[in-house]
Amino acid sequence: MDSFLALNHVSYAYHSPQGELPAMTDLCLSIEKGEFVSIVGPSGCGKSTLLSLICGLLKPEEGSILVGGHPPDESDVKIGYMLQKDHLFEWRNIFKNVCLGLEIQKAQTPDSLAYTTQLLKSYGLEGFEDVRPSELSGGMRQRAALIRTMTLHPDLLLLDEPFSALDYQTRLEVCDDIAMIIKEAGKTAVLVTHDLSEAISFGNRVIVLSSRPARVKADIRLSFDEGLSPLKRRSDQQFYQYFNLIWEELKGHE
Ligand code: ADP
Ligand code: MG
Repeated sequence: MDSFLALNHVSYAYHSPQGELPAMTDLCLSIEKGEFVSIVGPSGCGKSTLLSLICGLLKPEEGSILVGGHPPDESDVKIGYMLQKDHLFEWRNIFKNVCLGLEIQKAQTPDSLAYTTQLLKSYGLEGFEDVRPSELSGGMRQRAALIRTMTLHPDLLLLDEPFSALDYQTRLEVCDDIAMIIKEAGKTAVLVTHDLSEAISFGNRVIVLSSRPARVKADIRLSFDEGLSPLKRRSDQQFYQYFNLIWEELKGHE
């Protein structure tokens, strides 16, 4: 049976007048529905490029990418994207910000608006509909950004270092919060990060990328107790074993 997401021998290079910059070579990866996969690798190794390829913003130069059995732009799997910056617009209130995706897709129906209201309520932003983004904490802003993504019912969530702009304590809390929300919603998630602890606390699987051009160096399945939140995983004894194992893979010779 086909994987939910499959990258088969994917290569990609950026081309500029100065020359060619290979970002990825012969990368193979498959992800099943419902998996939480962390992708970790050094800065500049090609992690964001990988997500852009998965969602179809970039096309592989060699190899193929299949999402739900089809190339990203022909697939009926809906993909949501969350970035490091929340990109909330200060001139719109929170309700208008979280409805932006629906507005762009001309999908503001009574049902979709009711669902948005329900998301605001269940993610703790009820009562903040009329305020401006600058009045919210960093964690609340990221939750608003997540709601904006969730209004479109994505099947696959791509998260590009979504917590790295937050201060350390907030980052731990928001990662915990968002991971549990996405898990309860039964989504498939791919989190890209350069933070090894974050990768281990979030995923059921950690994929280690080499330095640029990215290829898969290691693919490690994590077996924490089901239901252990990212924050609780950090104090589980297995955490440090995984940390050491993956650290060795990360810094190991190319
Ligand atoms: P990461 O997300 O792992 O930090 P990226 O995927 O953003 O890395 O980038 C991989 C490499 O490709 C980096 O060396 C980066 O400078 C380069 N790069 C990224 N985007 C472009 C672009 N649009 N044009 C040229 N080079 C790029
Ligand atoms: Mg990046």
